[in-house]
Amino acid sequence: MKFKTIIEPFRIKTVEPIRQTTEAERAAALQAAHYNVFLLHGEDVLIDLLTDSGTGAMSVYQWAGMMRGDETYAGARSFYAFERAVGDITGFRHVIPTHQGRAAEHILTGAMLKPGDIVPNNRHFDTTRANVEHRGATALDLPIAAGLDPQVLHPFKGNMDLDALERAIRDNPGRVPLVMLTITNNSGGGQPVSLENIRGVSAIARRHGIPFFIDACRFAENAWFIRTREDGHADRAPIDIAREMFSLADGCTMSAKKDGMANIGGFLAMHDDAIAERCRNTLILTEGFPTYGGLAGYDLEAIAVGLYEALDPDYLRYRIRFVEYMAEKMVAAGIPMVRPAGGHALYLDAKRWLPHIPPTEYPGWALSLVLYLAGGIRAAEIGSVMFGQQPDGSEKPADLELVRLAFPRRVYTQSHMDYVCEVLEHVNTIAPRIRGVRIVEQPSALRHFTAKFAPLAPGVIA
Ligand SMILES: *Cc1c(COP(=O)(O)O)cnc(C)c1O
Repeated sequence: MKFKTIIEPFRIKTVEPIRQTTEAERAAALQAAHYNVFLLHGEDVLIDLLTDSGTGAMSVYQWAGMMRGDETYAGARSFYAFERAVGDITGFRHVIPTHQGRAAEHILTGAMLKPGDIVPNNRHFDTTRANVEHRGATALDLPIAAGLDPQVLHPFKGNMDLDALERAIRDNPGRVPLVMLTITNNSGGGQPVSLENIRGVSAIARRHGIPFFIDACRFAENAWFIRTREDGHADRAPIDIAREMFSLADGCTMSAKKDGMANIGGFLAMHDDAIAERCRNTLILTEGFPTYGGLAGYDLEAIAVGLYEALDPDYLRYRIRFVEYMAEKMVAAGIPMVRPAGGHALYLDAKRWLPHIPPTEYPGWALSLVLYLAGGIRAAEIGSVMFGQQPDGSEKPADLELVRLAFPRRVYTQSHMDYVCEVLEHVNTIAPRIRGVRIVEQPSALRHFTAKFAPLAPGVIA
């Protein structure tokens, strides 16, 4: 290529104004939200990097698909378009639509787990963990050692520790009915999994006769990392790599709010007839008839188009470069973050950035409050608030204290990102003055969504 600037591979047809606020307004909004950024009103946020889930901009082709949506209750044309797209990309025989990823997890764990079971994963996403534990089973994370160290540069930090997987299965005969692999590894820093590692997990699961399901939320970004980082794939189309990834598994759960490029939706797909039948029976009870599964016909159309757009090489090149661009600026500014950058997000390392705040005072959470207060930026803590709460009610600090800046797909431009970098550089100058928080009130699971907090001391935040 002659020029090195990688541009947004689209032009903007519709705009949505965003609102500027003063620091005093943001301080009041934080207090009203009980110091939990999940409880802020979206209108009070300037740059919303809370999640890349369902927050993307749809293309003209997806909107055209929405108009084609067939709202027939059973056997809608839109379902068959959806089933064709998912089947074409994943190769799985049974395609079961759900309203989002966690519904697919809920149905799968219900069909496959019983109390006392163990589910190995490179690292469970929070909803996956909660669904596994809801069935009385144990969610066992088996990341490779490099995945636990935010500073180690490794091309596939999302890989699973294959020896640990083999041991977990051997040491627990009859108690591992399902092996999962999260691609890319969201909780571990948006890090990819190599094709070689997927092959390894697949071989072990098959040798023991255990079904292997991929949590496929960011399968397209993962395919791009395989193409650019793993030997022998540089000339392959992302869709071919994706097909090979899925061919190694027995099924997948998917949130179409990620690499489905849609605002809502998900699916469960698999080869096995018996498991599929059990899942469909639950689906009818909790989601809807098997040809719509809690979605409108137009949602199914948007996903059918979006799955292919997520695999477009121009899009993926821009998508991964977008995050890398931010990462380069952060590294240059000396801001601690997980390296290398993930596919959909940048993970600030609050443990290193705010060493004066112990895990019991939630450094990542405190940092998320300061980002909002300083610049109207909303980001999500992925640390001891999200993972510290144990099923028995006790508290155990998480391995990592991260703050995730997740990037919505096709929404923000490079100048938005330059602004975010400027705010982060400012926060770097006040970092030693940031204080921790305590929990005032919390639910018994997934507490980060609704818990109420209070600042521990006056100063920055309070
Ligand atoms: C988002 C996500 C889920 C859950 O999907 P929802 O659509 O939010 O219910 C599961 N696993 C991973 C890795 C995710 O990123």
